[in-house]
Amino acid sequence: MAQHPNERDATDCPRIRGRYLVPATGEVKPARCGTCKCGWCGPRLALVTAWAIQLANPTWSAVVTAGEAQASEAELEGQVRQLQEAIRELTADLRARGHDWQAVWVIEVSPRAILHAHVLQRGTRVPPPLFLARCRAVGLDWAAIRPIGRLTPLARYVLKGAIAGLDLSVPRAVGLMRRHLLLNGGRLAHSTRDFWTDEGGERLGGVREARTAALRARSRTPQSEYRFLPSHRLRPDGARP
Ligand SMILES: [Zn+2]
Repeated sequence: MAQHPNERDATDCPRIRGRYLVPATGEVKPARCGTCKCGWCGPRLALVTAWAIQLANPTWSAVVTAGEAQASEAELEGQVRQLQEAIRELTADLRARGHDWQAVWVIEVSPRAILHAHVLQRGTRVPPPLFLARCRAVGLDWAAIRPIGRLTPLARYVLKGAIAGLDLSVPRAVGLMRRHLLLNGGRLAHSTRDFWTDEGGERLGGVREARTAALRARSRTPQSEYRFLPSHRLRPDGARP
């Protein structure tokens, strides 16, 4: 992928186009590109997406695996499409059995090269043996589901493939975002239609609206809570493939 001319020594979004005024506060802010593929904006969008997941308040954490990841990008993309299709089938299957299933999921490759998805669900409890059986029925290798203990670190953990870019230089973060977007069909995360909510549990239209709600909720919290956790401190909360 061609590198943007400003990316080599960027310490901010390399595609800032002027500034804009925030009428409510009178602040003047740089107009950053705000795209996921950006080495500066992408990891920050991912962190805000983790905050939005916290607002949606999922209560169950699942991991589903789909075998060894292919080395070639073209084959990996095909494998990712199959995994996405399996998750869609699984969602339909569980709903047909009467389960309330709203979820967000993120695909990654483990250090042992296993392609897998982290799925965070809000809705009814699916017994683990049933979950595993239904996952196998849609062609997945292995699956586990358990209650979420602490949502804050888990929401960041599932997006660590992109959030880790906060600790990297902008050019290196570009590579990280590219990999994350390849594994996730050009998005930070996938979700069912009614997953995203505000603090009060009211349904929101989608992830963009949810990120806006998350930023608004954060703007009411003390400044001390703004600190970014270094991504190496992110810890899993659930079975690991
Ligand atoms: Zn940018």
